[in-house]
Amino acid sequence: MPVASKEQAVVDAVPKGLYIGGEWRETESTVPVEDPSTGEVIAQVADATVDDALAALTAAADAQKMWANTPSRERGEVLRKAYDLIMERVDDLALIMTLEMGKPLAESKAEVTYAADFFYWFAGEATRIEGGYKPAEKGGFRVLTMRQPVGPCIFITPWNFPLAMGTRKLGPQIAAGCTSVIKPAKQTPLSMLALVGILEEAGLPGGVVNVITAKSSGSIMEPLIKDPRARKLSFTGSTPVGKKLIEQSAEQVLKVSMELGGNAPFVVFEDADIDEAIEGAMLAKMRNIGEACTAANRFHVHESIADEFAQKLAERMGGLKIARGTEEDSKVGPLIDDDQRGTVAELVDDATSKGAKVLTGGERVDGPGYFYKPTVLADVPADARLLKEEIFGPVAPIATFSTEEEAIAAANDTEYGLVAYLYTKDLARALRVSEALETGMIGLNQGVVSNAGAPFGGVKQSGFGREGGKVGIDEYLEWKYVAVAL
Ligand code: NAP
Repeated sequence: MPVASKEQAVVDAVPKGLYIGGEWRETESTVPVEDPSTGEVIAQVADATVDDALAALTAAADAQKMWANTPSRERGEVLRKAYDLIMERVDDLALIMTLEMGKPLAESKAEVTYAADFFYWFAGEATRIEGGYKPAEKGGFRVLTMRQPVGPCIFITPWNFPLAMGTRKLGPQIAAGCTSVIKPAKQTPLSMLALVGILEEAGLPGGVVNVITAKSSGSIMEPLIKDPRARKLSFTGSTPVGKKLIEQSAEQVLKVSMELGGNAPFVVFEDADIDEAIEGAMLAKMRNIGEACTAANRFHVHESIADEFAQKLAERMGGLKIARGTEEDSKVGPLIDDDQRGTVAELVDDATSKGAKVLTGGERVDGPGYFYKPTVLADVPADARLLKEEIFGPVAPIATFSTEEEAIAAANDTEYGLVAYLYTKDLARALRVSEALETGMIGLNQGVVSNAGAPFGGVKQSGFGREGGKVGIDEYLEWKYVAVAL
């Protein structure tokens, strides 16, 4: 089969309707899905109305009791089976992701595996939900505690990691005995639609997970968030939208998790191994074409090594192959759309107009698709917007510092607090600085932190709640305490 028709066949095999109560529903209007490397429409998916969205919540509410009463081992087995099916189909799922989101195939495969890891992890956690029993500390009665599913959940996910941002929520939800309505981003709905087909095949009963896609997220999600049948909201996306949703969730006092924006500092001390720091910087900056909440947004490098670091980073970033994600050896795919590319270009222009020097890149790539050249900027002044704002593109601004205190102050000078990267060989400094950084996660001499078995999440305006790790299931369980007279 020629390449293009193989791509189309894989896209065509994905169901495009709404998945409600275990059934696929068509809608009158549809939402186009574009390939960002060409700007061409590759599929049309359903466009849910408010009534469709409410029907999805009804299906979730109706299935809640049944799923909560399903033995935890059976719930875990569905996740384990789904994990196996995802891994069997990793190539097709990666191709779907690359076609709708743009990232190179190798990165899509890595995301599919990372996404599946959450199912593997929470398959085990399902059977380890425990309560307690103890005498009250002053005697007289017994304290019995049990953990119960929180109830129907609403999930909203972004386009940058179309599968993993969903499985981080679905894994613990399914394990804990909750049901859900999930709405992927309209730019990348195909990965989630393909996944729900897999969950069905793995034996997930209808109604436990319901998927809706829509052109207008705000108008269909608000009535769900304000519906008393929903008990939990978990959102991954930008901080401004997160703030709106926190307000909406106050109406029914929902249990809320927010995985929001980031502005990660990448701090390199003078005692760091520069080559290791460059390897880490390439991962922290270029993973997902820089469109990651965990992307290194700004580099703070000790003044004594800043020139060497900048030259080496510019050489590596300037040498990356820019191409459609399906091409062999593509290392830099397109940005998600022309607006995103425009924002990146504007931030670079702002920095250069204030005196930053372009060491490599600094411009769009001519031709179809939303490509932008990997860019390294040196001598970036403190008032450049890209030190304060999330860049979400392949741009590495480098600023310098002279003391540890200055580095910590610069790293913490942001309303965000998701992740920081720290390069030093001095153990005492590593621990001292780790304690001082105002973030939920730190990559210590390492450019990637994401791992299904670790608690992922931020502080400050990067949000609250943790996904993954032992604590990831807590977001989907409530404690109930029974005071027992004997
Ligand atoms: P976004 O604009 O906030 O959108 C995220 C999701 O919210 C999409 O599904 C979007 O739907 C939906 N949405 C938008 N407005 C809404 C509203 N008024 N009511 C309900 N839903 C609404 O963010 P994005 O541009 O897709 O994603 C990038 C952002 O996500 C970045 O800030 C990044 O840092 C953050 N992120 C954070 C994490 C983390 O774990 N902390 C992980 C990944 C990404 P439509 O797109 O269909 O309109």
